Amino acid sequence: MDIFYPDYYPRFRCIADACPDSCCHGWAVTVDEDSARYYRTLPGELGDILRSHLIEEDGETILSLTADGRCPMWAQDGLCRLQCEHGEQALCQVCKEFPRLRHDYGSFAELGLELSCPEAAKLILSAENQAFLCKSVAGGDEPDYDTDAMTILLRSREQVLDFLTEQTLSVGEALAVVLLYGYAVQSELDGGDRAVLSPEDMLKTARSLARAGSAAEVLEFYRDLEILTPQWSAMLAAPKGSAWREAHRAMARYMIARYWLQAVSDYDLIGRAKLTVLSCLVVKLLGGNILRTAQLYSKEIENDADNIDAILDGAYTSPALADIRLLELLLQ
Ligand code: SF4
Repeated sequence: MDIFYPDYYPRFRCIADACPDSCCHGWAVTVDEDSARYYRTLPGELGDILRSHLIEEDGETILSLTADGRCPMWAQDGLCRLQCEHGEQALCQVCKEFPRLRHDYGSFAELGLELSCPEAAKLILSAENQAFLCKSVAGGDEPDYDTDAMTILLRSREQVLDFLTEQTLSVGEALAVVLLYGYAVQSELDGGDRAVLSPEDMLKTARSLARAGSAAEVLEFYRDLEILTPQWSAMLAAPKGSAWREAHRAMARYMIARYWLQAVSDYDLIGRAKLTVLSCLVVKLLGGNILRTAQLYSKEIENDADNIDAILDGAYTSPALADIRLLELLLQ
């Protein structure tokens, strides 16, 4: 079985107590069943604290936060009390893996890092391309996906990553091309012919379509989503704005790498293309330190399945997120 991963993946190291926004802050983790069972029987003071913070919500077990918004296992030195006292095997699945991602497609798998971790964000946003390395391991299953759709998605992802890396296009132009190309590939996924489009032609079309974009309405849409931290609320309330930067381009490559192939599960590629351009646009509109803004964006949006679903729905239903309006904001 082949496992693909970005070239920066092996360089990630958790900096634990030196982390400026620890994953143990502001994030109520969903606990897997085995860990929840273990926590309910853990003796001593640590077990009592854990039990008092385990809550059931929509059929899932959540480790709720303390009054100051931290994980109840977080210690003053920034380390995890559970890990210190009971070893790494005591951690629930999410904490063991974070910020490492794995998408398993049966016959192959892809690894990645989450932008919501500040150390991972440094690697992701400074990457000059999205080069995948590959290692082969024993095992693997039959493909558990539509192989025709996956062929289209793999080929088109490579192409869209090339468009994004194309230095003749500004970042905003490249994102406009990503959006239009998403429509072309969607049509192919839906049974249409393969369209061979040049970035120049797509850009011309994008310019002719673009009109009436409203940054205020896009941010209003985000204010109506679930909000985790007061820092995010404050950022949305007082956007600073910024110019397009190469780090926005790198963020787009990360999102394409992470979400493009997921359209194999529901054939909604347009939603993923819009999620990509919209995410980069919102990080630009908010401005500030791009590393911090993008990392917090990811923590608030990518780590909250309800928020991702709301954006995938809003891509089709929200007037603020209409294509022609987004195109204008991208090309300003
Ligand atoms: S957010 Fe990343 S660097 Fe910070 S503590 Fe968590 S894994 Fe480590």
